[in-house]
Amino acid sequence: MDITSGTRKIIVAIDGPAASGKSTTARLLAKKLGYTYIDTGAMYRSVTLKALEAGLLEHLHDHPDDAASLLEDIGIAFDGERVLLDGRDVTGAIRDNRVSRHVSFVSSLKPVRDALKQMQRVMGERRGVVMDGRDIGTVVFPDAELKIFLVADASERANRRYAELIQKSGGCNNIPSVEELEQEILLRDRSDAERTHAPLKKHRDAVEVDTSGLTIDEQVALVYNLALEKTAV
Ligand code: C5P
Repeated sequence: MDITSGTRKIIVAIDGPAASGKSTTARLLAKKLGYTYIDTGAMYRSVTLKALEAGLLEHLHDHPDDAASLLEDIGIAFDGERVLLDGRDVTGAIRDNRVSRHVSFVSSLKPVRDALKQMQRVMGERRGVVMDGRDIGTVVFPDAELKIFLVADASERANRRYAELIQKSGGCNNIPSVEELEQEILLRDRSDAERTHAPLKKHRDAVEVDTSGLTIDEQVALVYNLALEKTAV
């Protein structure tokens, strides 16, 4: 049921550090609103996977402008929950820890940011989207009607990521410990917040939501109510 009929379509921008609950909240919120969910982290992960597969990562450290060659004909698309890179299903591959370790570096490159920002603006131009990432409210859609900044304790974020990996691994024991995940998350937060282009930061109009003590249902309900206030005409 599209509960938005008779109301105006808006853009909901959800930013925040790694594993703060953005994608879960954004996905469920989009479903409740009858909106499209766009996971921009998956887009940066896809470019990172492409760079890894092309063996270009080392080269990009010395020649960041050459990232443009990766982006020329890149196809990144969402098909329900699946992420397609150049027509290939990479939903699982982009969550690999190898991608997680390099994604902040690839995301810091200006040609990558410029190209993905452009793609994201096109995806959201008809509004009716929930987009999550690091710079959606600050850079991609600074005019988004609702901007949310999600935060949570680092230890809680590491525990959540661990539970998610256990669930997705299907019993495989090649999983980093909670402590390793917390270090990886903190390192990624630092790189994302300290980079020159589009660093992670809260827009002055963004509503900060601390999800540390909240259940998923509670955080979705909270953001949903904020969205309803903005969609009312
Ligand atoms: O959201 P997720 O953790 O999958 O994002 C992976 C990485 O992609 C982030 O750590 C960040 O480096 C980058 N990213 C970004 N800008 C966005 C979304 C993600 O730089 N809008």
